[in-house]
Amino acid sequence: MRLDRYLANRARLSRQDVRRLLAEDRVLVNGETSRIVDLEVRVFDRIELDGEMLQAGKAARYLMLHKPAGCASATQDATHRTVLDLIDEPDKQDLHIAGRLDFNTTGLMLLTNDGQWSRRLTQPTSLLGKVYLVETEDEIDPACVDVFAQGMYFRFENLTTLPAELVLLEPRRARLTLHEGRYHQVKRMFGRFNNKVTALHRESMGPLTLDLALEPGRYRSLTEQEIAQI
Ligand code: URA
Repeated sequence: MRLDRYLANRARLSRQDVRRLLAEDRVLVNGETSRIVDLEVRVFDRIELDGEMLQAGKAARYLMLHKPAGCASATQDATHRTVLDLIDEPDKQDLHIAGRLDFNTTGLMLLTNDGQWSRRLTQPTSLLGKVYLVETEDEIDPACVDVFAQGMYFRFENLTTLPAELVLLEPRRARLTLHEGRYHQVKRMFGRFNNKVTALHRESMGPLTLDLALEPGRYRSLTEQEIAQI
């Protein structure tokens, strides 16, 4: 909500009074005066008027988890342990997952209570590269490199996947960079070549790379720098 509307509602003031308060530097947003009437007020912002706290501002959370295999990318699941079960934070119910992984996929998972931040990371237009290490049952057909780069038609969604970069590392191991996140995308891409993905691990999402010091199942808060990169 815009700052002028927020103040008008919260302090029961006219728009005119609000403009005057702002011009008189009586409103602090996160400790600093603001005169910007259309500033977007978020639940994470601390808002003060004449020294009185109108909104304390919720703590924004940004966590990096090393997702283990055998764990559901959900906040609730009737039968399986979820990634949220691995988190020990008082306000963990407010967290959501920015970019799900399949039950047995391992690697980088980001959790946050900041919807704007996670949308920037996952919205299709962001085109951020997601890098996966893939292991397959059979040897990888080198033709995959060109086919993945050209894009593959997915009949169910009626779309062609964006160009993806495949680097062969070993006969049954490769690194794949996707710029979108379709349902079971990696498995379906290799499935076209009748090859089964036996292990899948996400190394990075855009500029954020899994901290190698994190054992599977462990997590840490992102640094200020990491948060600002999205
Ligand atoms: N593609 C898949 O098939 N599974 C994942 O978990 C992520 C990408």
